Amino acid sequence: MKEKIHPKYGPARFECACGNVIETKSTRQGTIKVEICSACHPIFTGQHKLVDSAGRVEKFLKKYEKKAKSKKQEKTTPEA
Ligand SMILES: [Zn+2]
Repeated sequence: MKEKIHPKYGPARFECACGNVIETKSTRQGTIKVEICSACHPIFTGQHKLVDSAGRVEKFLKKYEKKAKSKKQEKTTPEA
């Protein structure tokens, strides 16, 4: 190997949002947080599940839940 052109290669620890920890080696040292890994990705698990680590779907549903409720209230109140 040529000197001084190769990045440092050493132990790295990948922590997934599902709780799975992968000990491996990388040019990036330390702990690297990932959102998905082979233990929880649907293509490996064979289960269809929503990949939603940021809670965006919940936020979306909440937003429209509120709107639907307020619309219902408008309908029930008698118009003057
Ligand atoms: Zn995972």
